[in-house]
Amino acid sequence: MKYADLSTAELQSLHESISSHYDQFKAAGLKLDLTRGKPSKEQLDLSNALDGILEGFYLLQDGTDVRNYGGILGIPEARALGADILGLAPDEVLVGGNSSLTLMYQYIDLMQNHAGNSWHREAKAANGRVKFLCPVPGYDRHYTICEQFNIEMITVAMTEAGPDMAEVESLVSSDPLIKGIWCVPRYSNPTGYTYSDETVSRLSKLPIIAGDNFRIMWDNAYAVHHLADEPDELSNLMALARKQSTQDSVVMLASTSKITFAGAGIAFLGASVQNLAIFEQFLSGSIIGFDKVNQLRHVRFLKDSEALAAHMAKHQAIIRPKFDLVLAKLESALGGTGIAEWTTPRGGYFISLDTLPGLASEVVRLADEAGVKLTPAGATFPYGMDPLDRNIRIAPTFPSLDQLRQALEVFVVCIQLASVNKLLSR
Ligand code: PMP
Repeated sequence: MKYADLSTAELQSLHESISSHYDQFKAAGLKLDLTRGKPSKEQLDLSNALDGILEGFYLLQDGTDVRNYGGILGIPEARALGADILGLAPDEVLVGGNSSLTLMYQYIDLMQNHAGNSWHREAKAANGRVKFLCPVPGYDRHYTICEQFNIEMITVAMTEAGPDMAEVESLVSSDPLIKGIWCVPRYSNPTGYTYSDETVSRLSKLPIIAGDNFRIMWDNAYAVHHLADEPDELSNLMALARKQSTQDSVVMLASTSKITFAGAGIAFLGASVQNLAIFEQFLSGSIIGFDKVNQLRHVRFLKDSEALAAHMAKHQAIIRPKFDLVLAKLESALGGTGIAEWTTPRGGYFISLDTLPGLASEVVRLADEAGVKLTPAGATFPYGMDPLDRNIRIAPTFPSLDQLRQALEVFVVCIQLASVNKLLSR
C-alpha cells in the first residue's frame, strides 16, 4: 500500500490509528537508545581473555620489554597483525593507541600544519581554504576533524559502488585546494556499501590529477566485520596505487575497537614506508611510544588471520540476528509504502534509512518524545546539514534483541506518523 496513492479519507483513518499507537508508546515511558554504534556487553565479553593473557611474559622475540618506553611504530608482531587486516607489508604499518580516530586526527594535523609543504601554507598562498571531499551519508567524526582543522567540506554522492567517481574526478581537477577524500571502503558507515573494484582503481589514479599532496583517507574500520556468509571483496588500494606511483597519497586506518574492547583496543595507520617515517617523526613530539603491553596482549589473543576470522564469526553470531530483526521490522511496517528506503548491509555496524524529504528531524523528534533516542538527523552530513533532511542512521548492535524490538516498534510508527502528516498537509 503506497501511502502517496491513498485518498484523504484513507489517510485520515490511517492517521487516527497510527496516532493512537504513538500515544500509547509515549505513555509507556520507554528509555531506549539507537544512537552510537557500540558493541554490546555480550560482544565485549568475547575478549575478556585479553586480561591476564600475558601471565608475566613481557618480552618480545627480539628481547624488547614491552613495559618500557620506546618504539613509536609499534611492536613487530602487532605491525604484522595490522598489515594482515589492511593488506600491507608490516613495515608499512604503525600501531598506535586505542583509537584510529586519533591517528587520523594527528595525520591531518601533520598535513595541514606541519608538513614541509603544508596544506595550510599552500592554501594561504592561493588565498583560499583547504578542502576535503566527503561522500555522503558518511561518518560524523571525519567531519569533526575537518571542522577542527578549518578544512572546508565538499559533499559527493555515495553510491552502492562507493563515491560517485565522475563527480570526484571532476571536482579534483577543477580545484587544486581539494587535498583529500574520506573513504570507509568496506561496509561503509552508515550505508554498509563496499567500494567496487572500478571505484578503487579510479581512486588509485586520483592523485595523478590531484597532486602529490593529496591524501586518500582509507578508513577501513569495518575491514573484517562481515555479516553475510560470503565477505564482500575489496580491492587493495595500496597495491593499485603502487602501480600508478601514487602510494604516498594512500593513508589506511583500522583498529580493534569493534574486534576486542571498543575503548581499549589498538589502532593501525598504514602508509608508504617513506610517509610512515615522516609521521613517526611528527608523533615523536607528542609521545615516546604507544601502549606496547596492550599491543602484545592483542597479538597473543588474536594470533593470526585464521583466529581473527574465528573471533569475528562470534561477533557475527551475536549481531546478525539484530540486523535481521531491524530489516524484517522495516520491511513489514514500511515495505511497499513508499515512505522510506533503507540499505541491507552485508557487514559493518549500521543501516542507513531515508525518509520522505524533509522528515528525518521530525522522525527523530517524535521518537525522542516517545523515549527512543536516535542519532541526530543530519549527523551523517558535513556541518550536520542534510540538505534533504531525510537520512537516519540506525545502530542496532548495542541494545538487546528485546530492547531493539521495542525501539523499532516506536521508530516505524514515528516514520508512519510523520509521513501521513506530511501527505495530509499536501
Ligand atoms: N571510523 C569509522 C568509520 C567508525 O565508524 C568508527 C567508530 N564508530 C571509527 C573510525 C572509530 O574508530 P576508533 O575506535 O579506532 O577510533
